[in-house]
Amino acid sequence: MTVSDMAKVELHLHHEGAAPPAFIRGLAAEKKVDLSGIFNEHGGYHYKDFWDFLKVYEAATSVLQTPEDYARLTTAVLEESAAAGVVYSETFLSPDFCGDRDVGAWREYLAAIREAADAAEAEHGIVLRGIVTCIRHFGPQKARETAACAAETAGDWIVGFGIAGDENAGALEDFVWSFDCTREAGLRLTAHAGEWGGPESVRDALDHLRVERIGHGVRAIEDLALVDRLAEDGVVLEVCPGSNVVLGVYSDWRAHPIHRLRERGVKVTVSTDDPPFFHTTMVNEYNRLADAFEWDEGVFEDIARTSAEAAFCDVATKDKILKRLERS
Ligand SMILES: [Zn+2]
Repeated sequence: MTVSDMAKVELHLHHEGAAPPAFIRGLAAEKKVDLSGIFNEHGGYHYKDFWDFLKVYEAATSVLQTPEDYARLTTAVLEESAAAGVVYSETFLSPDFCGDRDVGAWREYLAAIREAADAAEAEHGIVLRGIVTCIRHFGPQKARETAACAAETAGDWIVGFGIAGDENAGALEDFVWSFDCTREAGLRLTAHAGEWGGPESVRDALDHLRVERIGHGVRAIEDLALVDRLAEDGVVLEVCPGSNVVLGVYSDWRAHPIHRLRERGVKVTVSTDDPPFFHTTMVNEYNRLADAFEWDEGVFEDIARTSAEAAFCDVATKDKILKRLERS
């Protein structure tokens, strides 16, 4: 067995950002939208720098417009994940893009996505759960509406709430209401921080939003007292090394702090973020990490178990996933 064949658990995946380029190309053709400028000669997404990446991302996702589109997206995404050995995945979904924060419309998108996820589970054995995210640069007021959608649909499938988007827009403190509201509705919490923002952004997420997981969080390494706090409190980092390297947060894989964080006792997990945009897969992440840090199967087993234990799903689902990891 190689690390690529191991069963994997992924906790940090943006649903639209996981859209395979071939799927988006097909959808654009059906809708007669010209997206030819965003693909390279091999059919992958093409962009020059971070700003261009944002434009390409927006263009690609602009063709996802209806519950049916999201159902088909779900099928396409889960096929890719299952092929990479992922047995359980949590995906970020946003009522901002699914129904414009209208609860009724959001429920329709959600029903379509869940139906496709159930079919994928039956076919490939992969289990999917959803985390609703508000979009930081849309501001705190829209986040409240998004949080209300999340609270309305909280349950055995929508299991968490989080915040994504531009880490430098506004203060995390302004989103406390949304996080309190969704916590009261029974949702588990995560927040993007410590990717573009420094260690102080990770402290803000812990102190103000009181999250149990941090999306990225890797720049905590710049403040060792914070690293020790993460380790002591058992805060889980959803680390996406390939994304960080491609976007230039770190110059190369060996410069990435995931190994140092882990050595100092932080619970790290591995995810792909927006995989086709960063030309990665879970298999690629595993292989690159194995090469960069000489990680063996034991390390990846530990990471998969940590990820399953940090999953926001119910205990019965988690036990099922842990059993599958033991068998793999
Ligand atoms: Zn992310």
